[in-house]
Amino acid sequence: MKPTQETDRVKQIVLASSNPGKLREFAQMFAPLGIELIAQSALGIADADEPHGTFVENALAKARHASRQARLPAMADDSGICVRALGGEPGVHSARFAADGVAAAAAAGRDSQDALNNRKLLALLRDQPDRAAHYYAAIVLVRHGDDPEPLIADGLWNGEIIDAPRGTNGFGYDPHFFLRDVGKTAAELDPEQKNVLSHRGKALRRLLARLKEEAP
Ligand code: IMP
Repeated sequence: MKPTQETDRVKQIVLASSNPGKLREFAQMFAPLGIELIAQSALGIADADEPHGTFVENALAKARHASRQARLPAMADDSGICVRALGGEPGVHSARFAADGVAAAAAAGRDSQDALNNRKLLALLRDQPDRAAHYYAAIVLVRHGDDPEPLIADGLWNGEIIDAPRGTNGFGYDPHFFLRDVGKTAAELDPEQKNVLSHRGKALRRLLARLKEEAP
């Protein structure tokens, strides 16, 4: 593939995430662009705090933290699932939904955290007929730690929560996130299909389009 304008400007990006599911999805979307994605963990950079009540503020904090530490451009996403019957929860608390305030759950590995999160979600939705939910992702790219013009994009993916898990792909809430028009859960999609449809895929394509607007 011919180098594009954005690859001339940004060739290496530190990815401010240690979530292996997200790393896989981003790596797949960046592979054709000739941009090297470096996981922040490979540079010994610890996860930043996510103290904010909005996805975009948390993504910006994570991207700035990684860029300052690595002295490279950095990209972060902050994402989660927002359930209508729960007033938008777990939202920004999606990753640690079950762990918040529970030491045993906080100490659990990521897979068991996912299982605990799903169990808590289904318990809260028991006898609840309204199962509408959406995933949301905000992605932020900064060229350096103090970049005054961060690139910001978001994406949304509508679905509904089902009780019985289906599929083994994806991560997090995917086995319970059902897409009525496709007839599958997110965990039944192959990775390429998920990237076409997902909140993160949409946000990333918007971010790349924005990157292309940059002056050469
Ligand atoms: P973050 O790392 O703080 O952005 O947390 C994101 C959390 O939201 C993940 O740990 C999952 O629980 C959930 N999440 C976000 N995107 C997805 C997805 O594509 N599939 C399943 N769960 C997701």
